[in-house]
Amino acid sequence: MEHDNLIACHECDTLFKKPQLLGSRSVARCPRCGATLYRSAYRRLDGISAMTLAALFTFLIAQAYPILELDANGITSQTTLFGALVALWNEDMQIVAVMVFCATTLFPLTELVALLYVLIPIRSGYVPAGFNQVLRAIQFVRPWGMIEVFMLGVLITIVKMVSLARVIPEAALFAFGALTLMFAVVVMFDPRTLWDIADELTARRARPTPRTAADSAAAAVGATLTGSASGQPAAPHQG
Ligand SMILES: [Zn+2]
Repeated sequence: MEHDNLIACHECDTLFKKPQLLGSRSVARCPRCGATLYRSAYRRLDGISAMTLAALFTFLIAQAYPILELDANGITSQTTLFGALVALWNEDMQIVAVMVFCATTLFPLTELVALLYVLIPIRSGYVPAGFNQVLRAIQFVRPWGMIEVFMLGVLITIVKMVSLARVIPEAALFAFGALTLMFAVVVMFDPRTLWDIADELTARRARPTPRTAADSAAAAVGATLTGSASGQPAAPHQG
């Protein structure tokens, strides 16, 4: 018995053979208790693609602009995330600098770019090269992106420094705040569902199926024409 094509209802534990969802707006429900088994991931592709693209632009703003400006006795200084990393490196804290770089820059950027690399072609209906490797890379880097932890650290620093100097929040601080929320939405999307879509696309490419009523009619007319041309009508009228 094949196990990879089975799905269990999470409410009543009934086991079903996983049906293939057709069309862009379909939901598989348990016929016993009515719980939603799973949804077609197609309908979420547009939303998650837009959110990933928006997160990428917000990420660039967060990296490019200063996070904070400190004003102590008339002396002002401001820093970007990159400036803070350089300062950590120069203070002989290279390991911390590398860890902060990976958790706040390298891994989140890898995840966003990799997601866009697979999402945009899948939306257009084809599977990009290296699809499996890119999805595995997303699943590998996902737990290591810690923008929310960094955001928490910055907020604690602001609270502690308010007594020492005037702290002025800059553009990147708001960008990091927005990015934290955007990443919360992006990580809700399970990249494994893309494997199902890719399988469906590959199957559809191997055996093209008519998608609309007009296509079905055209396919039927085409079949009739080919049948007549070869001299073998599918349903003879006179007998
Ligand atoms: Zn059920």
